[in-house]
Order: sequence, then structure tokens, then C-alpha cells
Amino acid sequence: MTVQVNESMIRNVVAQVLAEVGPAPAVSGGQQTLSHGVFDCANEAIAAARTAFEQLSQRTIDDRKRIIEHIRRISIDQAVELGTMEMEETKIGRLDHKINKLETLGKLTPGIEFMTSQAFTGNRGLAIVEHAPFGVIGAITPVTHSLPTITGNAVSMIASGNTLVVNPHPSGKRVAAEGVRRFNRAIYQDLGIDNLICVIAEPTLESADVIFNHRDIALICVTGGPAVARAALNAGKRAIVAGPGNPPVVVDETADLDNAARCIIQGASYDNNLLCIGEKEIFVVDSVCDGLMQAMEAAGAVRLNSQQIDQLTSKAIQPVGEGEHRHDAATKEFLGQDPAVLAAGAGLTLNQPTDLLFGETSADHPFVTVEQMMPFVPVVRCRDVDQAIDYAREAEHGFRHTAMIHSNNVRNMTKMGRILDTTIFVKNGPCMAGLGLGGEGYLSFSIAGPTGEGVTTAMTFTRERHCALVDDLYVLGK
Ligand code: NAD
Repeated sequence: MTVQVNESMIRNVVAQVLAEVGPAPAVSGGQQTLSHGVFDCANEAIAAARTAFEQLSQRTIDDRKRIIEHIRRISIDQAVELGTMEMEETKIGRLDHKINKLETLGKLTPGIEFMTSQAFTGNRGLAIVEHAPFGVIGAITPVTHSLPTITGNAVSMIASGNTLVVNPHPSGKRVAAEGVRRFNRAIYQDLGIDNLICVIAEPTLESADVIFNHRDIALICVTGGPAVARAALNAGKRAIVAGPGNPPVVVDETADLDNAARCIIQGASYDNNLLCIGEKEIFVVDSVCDGLMQAMEAAGAVRLNSQQIDQLTSKAIQPVGEGEHRHDAATKEFLGQDPAVLAAGAGLTLNQPTDLLFGETSADHPFVTVEQMMPFVPVVRCRDVDQAIDYAREAEHGFRHTAMIHSNNVRNMTKMGRILDTTIFVKNGPCMAGLGLGGEGYLSFSIAGPTGEGVTTAMTFTRERHCALVDDLYVLGK
């Protein structure tokens, strides 16, 4: 009897044997190691990701799809374990939403289906514009979504044929390493390529610097606040910058107040307001301000009085930095904590669980001006919609990130859209509707405002290649 042996059968046998013996122990001295992407040294991580890139370049698009399916499967199937790990390590946000983020990114991050080519035909033949990978991408990820950002970045970047080296936030490094190890192990066991996603086990500003400056890093993608955004823009190579936000919400006199209240609570309370797109401050036209606050209470949010807001503010927002860099920032004790913790800081004991606190403040209150990332939103009473939009523009600080309006007046929507000029602009929905969650569109946790790529996808991480065939294959003409 003859047995036909093909490549896939060999791979399956190899994968089965490897699964039984487990990964080989790491050895030093230049011999082969199975690090599954976790490295102490940034230079070694980049070298491994470069080798992985060369291997990936030899594989088919179907293989890329298979690789991404492993990342999706692990994100979804192991979301409870990995989400719990992320919650225990970072100690900010909400466990249910840590789990939900991994599931959502695993399911919905666009993959190779977003890769497109263009064709130009005419009497002089055919030209095709294709989208090629850059190579190894250096990624910096935030503490607010450590493994979720890596998951989304990995899907997008590998879909377009790249590999990546991640410098995670030091306070989310363990879950980052564990997730990356699991992704790589599964990919290696199935396809025999290791280190498509590499992560620095002990990330520092120095390891970030090595990644920024290494000649084998073709592109940088940073997701974080103002400091890392500035550092990436000064790195001397192309950077995709998913920077900070401070999303305002305008509510005008035509809004459906019950819907507005529900949407604000849903968006602002998600992961205790850690989302960069999350509703951070509300500007309401005077004639409906009391109505909105009543609707928020009816929908389960708890209102703080001005004394309670003062007490919370003095503990939750404090100055940091020296000299010209001195500015107000959220304190660690309150950032991303539960409403009950914030309420206690305000001198209030909650009688029943709530997702969100709110209260009336002035337009220049620290809770309005600082990207506070807490489940308390300030409500600012405004003379009319023009003043509300004006305050919203100031509070957004020109980040051009995200803004929301609740209105049934298209002129007001248009005016705010033009003036705020944000990457994401949601009308009559919660912030996540701008990422296709409860609205149309698609998902990414790296939204590149400052550099203009918007909600990143596989296509974001590509370089154009034009391929021209002269005088042939224009089958429509003479
Ligand atoms: P952060 O700015 O403190 O840190 C982000 C990452 O940058 C971390 O890995 C950190 O170690 C690194 N970093 C900081 N300064 C650096 C420097 N000078 N050089 C190199 N690396 C540096 O932010 P965070 O608290 O982790 O995350 C919250 C911030 O990220 C918020 O401002 C939020 O709006 C933003 N964010 C933006 C998006 C987006 O898609 N635009 C998504 C998520 C979070």
C-alpha cells in the first residue's frame, strides 16, 4: 500500500510530537531556543521577530489566516483566565470588561479580509497597486488594555504580513508575556514558526528606545498618552501614533434624554472609564440639564453633590511634574477604580451597586480638563448648543480623538462634527458605537488620531507597491 505524504500531514505529525514533548528548554550561546516570543533583551527580540518575518514571507495568505485564527481562538477561549490575570496585575478597570475586551478583539478585529489591491487598466496595459508588509513593527502598549491591545495589533499586523516586537506597559507586562507565549506556542505547534509576536519581559524606557532606534524596526506603532506619543514622533522613523483623548459629550434640547443617559452610562462606565474613547465630560443645554440628570439617576447612576465632588477631586486629581511640565493628573488610588471606591473618596456610602457616578461642575473643573479615566463624569450646564460645542472643543484639547452628541438636529450634529474635527464622532450612541460595537464600522484598540491613520486595520501597516505590465492584459480595448 502506498501512503501519500503531503506537507500538511508532516506538519500535523511534527505538531503532535512537539505537543507531547513540550517546548525545548531555552539555551544560551546562539543555539536554537523556543522562547515563544518572550525576551529579556530587546535586540534579541528584534532579531527573532526578523527571522520570523522572513519565515512568514515564505508562507501563503491561508497560513496567515490560520495564524490569526489561533490568536482569535486563544483570546476568546481563554478570555476568563487571561482577563482575570490582567485585572489582578494591573488592578484597574472591571473584571467583566477585561474578559469582554479579549473576547471582542478576538472575534471582531478585522483580519486579512481587509487587505485589498487596486488595478488600473488602459491602452498602455495594466498596473496593480498591492500592499506589502513593512517587516518588523515596534509596538508600545498601554496599561489600560495590555493584552487586548497586543491581540488587536497582532491580528492587524500579521494579517498584512508583518511581525511585531512589543514593549508593554511595565504594570501589564506579565499578562502581556503570558498571552504572547500562548499565541506563539499555538502558532508554532501548528505551523512551525515561533516569535511572530515578541514581547519584552522587563520593559523599560531604555528597551523602548532600543526598539525605536533599531535599524530592523521598519515602523513604530504606539498606543498611549502624551509622553509616548511625543517620543514616537521624535523617533526619526515612520510612527503610527494612537494618542490620548478626552472625549466630550454634547446633549442638546432635541435629544432623547433617556437614550442619552443610557448611552453615557454604558460608555463612561465601561472598564471604569479606561477606554480612550470613553465619555469623559458632558455639556448639556440648560433647558434639558435637569432632565438629563434625572434620566441618569433613573437609569441607575448616582449623583454627587458639590461638596462630595470637591472631596473626591482633592484626592483623585493632583498636580504632577515639575516646572513647565507641572500639570494635573488622575491619582493611582482612584484611576480606573470602582464607583464604590470613588464614592468612599467623596464621603458617600453607596446603598446599592452602581456603574457610574456623576455631578454638576463648571467647565474648567479638573474632572473636565484632565483625562481622568474614572467612573465619575462631570455634567456642565451650558447656555445653548453653541456654548456646549465650544466647551467640548476646549475640553478635547485638539487631540482630534473622539466626541459624542445626543441630538435630533442635524445642523447641530454637523456644526459639532466640523468644529471638533475628531477621528471618531458618534451621534446618539455610546462611544463604542464608533468602533462598530452597537453601530456600523469596525474595531481596533489603536486609534491613530495624531498621525491620521484612524481606526487601524491590516491595511494601516502596509507599504504600497506598484506593478506595471506595459501594453498587455488590457482585454477590454484595442
Ligand atoms: P502611558 O502613556 O502612561 O503609557 C503608554 C505606554 O507608553 C506604556 O507602555 C509606557 O511604558 C510607554 N511610555 C510612556 N512614556 C514613554 C516614553 N517617553 N518613551 C517610550 N515609551 C513610553 O499611558 P497608559 O496609562 O498606559 O494608557 C492610557 C493612555 O493611553 C491614555 O492617554 C489613553 O487615551 C491612551 N490610549 C489611546 C488609545 C488610542 O487608540 N488612541 C488606546 C488606548 C489608550
